[in-house]
Amino acid sequence: MTTARKPLIAGNWKMNLTGAEASALADACAREASGNSAVDVAIAPPAIWLERVLKIAKDTPLKVWGQNAAEESSGAFTGETSFPMLLDAGATGALLGHSERRHVFGESNASVGTRAELGVRLQADVVVCVGEQLQDRKNGTTMDVVREQLEPILSSVPFERLTVAYEPVWAIGTGETATPEQAQETHAAIRALLVKTYGEDGESIRILYGGSVKPANAKELLSQADIDGVLVGGASLKPDSFAAIIAAANA
Ligand code: PGA
Repeated sequence: MTTARKPLIAGNWKMNLTGAEASALADACAREASGNSAVDVAIAPPAIWLERVLKIAKDTPLKVWGQNAAEESSGAFTGETSFPMLLDAGATGALLGHSERRHVFGESNASVGTRAELGVRLQADVVVCVGEQLQDRKNGTTMDVVREQLEPILSSVPFERLTVAYEPVWAIGTGETATPEQAQETHAAIRALLVKTYGEDGESIRILYGGSVKPANAKELLSQADIDGVLVGGASLKPDSFAAIIAAANA
């Protein structure tokens, strides 16, 4: 990680936690964010807990994002949450194209691109998740998949609003982590693509790694040149393990 890119540690709570648990965890995250000024800390709570979490995050450096945002601003889209709603509640951005959205809910690369375009038009930050499935890695087509996932994003998202999260699907929630070398190899290829698109500005875009990140492997992953932070699922649900990952970025 170069000194120019401040590490970003983000927690994706997915569909977990009661309201009381969400408040307690947000409180711990806000304290960690305030106590680690060399690290940016963000969380993506379930939409229903956004308001209570945002109240806790107010006046602290903790960033709060949606876990997804719809293609449209409003309308007959039962169950969806839109960028205007997220921003109105006080969130500053959203995860987009998380592998569960792509593979469980069938969101396409083009759909993720449309969401990103709307988000940045409304001044939201977008954290675009990309990553190959196990078969792609076995076939040696990891970067082809990642390039296709990024294509609709790179044409429309300004570099200041973009964070990329590389999450190999085979490493999410499985306990399998890409080795630091495997992760760095893909991050370097993504970096090259960003620099090709944005010129020198591409160097300032943070690329997070995600997939079974935990206190035991965070430090080694974060020591890689192009790993600028991590997107954490399971280990972000416990204050102690999330704090240990933040500490690893602060070392
Ligand atoms: P995990 O999830 O850390 O539980 O593997 C990561 C993610 O899905 O963002």
